[in-house]
Amino acid sequence: MIDNKSYCPIPFKEIYVANSGKYKLCCHAQEGDVSESDLLPFDYFFSEAIEDVRDRMMSGEEVKDCLKCTHHEKKGGYSYRMKAIAKWGYTSEVRDVSLKLRINGSACNLQCYMCHPYNSSSRRKELREIWGDDYDLHFSDPKKVKFTSKSTSQKRNIWNDTIDNINEYIHLIKEIHMTGGEPLQLPRHWEWVDRIPDEHAKNITLVYDSNITQLSYKNHHVLDLKEKFKKVHFGISCDHIGEKLEYIRYPINHKEFEENLKFMTSHFDTSINVTVGLLNIPDLLEIKQYYEDIIKDSKYNKEVCCSSVVSGPRILSIRNLPEHLKTHYIQKYKQFPLVVSELKLPKHTDDWYKHMSEYMDKLYESRGLKWREVFDAESYRS
Ligand code: SF4
Repeated sequence: MIDNKSYCPIPFKEIYVANSGKYKLCCHAQEGDVSESDLLPFDYFFSEAIEDVRDRMMSGEEVKDCLKCTHHEKKGGYSYRMKAIAKWGYTSEVRDVSLKLRINGSACNLQCYMCHPYNSSSRRKELREIWGDDYDLHFSDPKKVKFTSKSTSQKRNIWNDTIDNINEYIHLIKEIHMTGGEPLQLPRHWEWVDRIPDEHAKNITLVYDSNITQLSYKNHHVLDLKEKFKKVHFGISCDHIGEKLEYIRYPINHKEFEENLKFMTSHFDTSINVTVGLLNIPDLLEIKQYYEDIIKDSKYNKEVCCSSVVSGPRILSIRNLPEHLKTHYIQKYKQFPLVVSELKLPKHTDDWYKHMSEYMDKLYESRGLKWREVFDAESYRS
């Protein structure tokens, strides 16, 4: 199996739905044609098409949906597939299922400069205000993903059927990965939590991707989750320190964030997740040290991870940096294999700097902020 470059444990373990409503093998895979309105999650998971993917992976055939990992391994040396094997091992058993379903909406109170517009409603609003209705042409991958225009009642019916389908197979579920938007601020997230029967919740781990800017919603509070579930883990998004954090995760308040961070790390198992992109690539070691110092007395996990990278929108990927900077960071960040792998990929286009700086200038001008004074923008020029 070690020589099999196609095998990945994720199709055996995970069901993923993107904010567009379409299934993907995982968040890094290409989007397929099947949506929640065609097949409910477990009908998709047990479908012939997915069984065929598993067979092809086991026999070492390349799977076209997994191009990103194939490309990373050929050019960069490390991939999300390898990261998944490190987590799950070489399993071929279809059980202990993990759900990562972006079904609760994409409302988010932050507009991170690198967030894919499909994953944040306030980001879409801001981009539309600056660039008009064609905003996504500037930032999306060539294969554009369109939101389906279903009525609210249609969406509600699909969501209810989805939750019923999940509860029918709840005995197979080991982990539910809650993501958004900002999951803690999504009413449907809390409704889903309430609909998970207590006797099964005791066997399920909840995993969150959260910005932890707000820890309660109406009569719900994060601490309620601890009572109900076997374990709750928070992956806390945190991409820089102080003012630079406020530029990247606009409009976050860094002092409030650090207060919430102390609260969360004293009550929950957490990892602090730094998404590596243009604005934080110079400072990863400082960021890691800063937050490790803040949480050093937490009795739970004290991990600060640099294990995800901005790969889309493409203009914001570190693979486009000038060669001398890429060489420097490849040496400096050997401990972060995905960062090194992304740096080793070829740049997207030669006129990348022009597109990137036009985007950044326009975005931050509209916010009344001067990004060129806070970050070393000129260093990105070839
Ligand atoms: S090979 Fe890569 S893209 Fe495919 S399912 Fe695994 S992690 Fe996702």
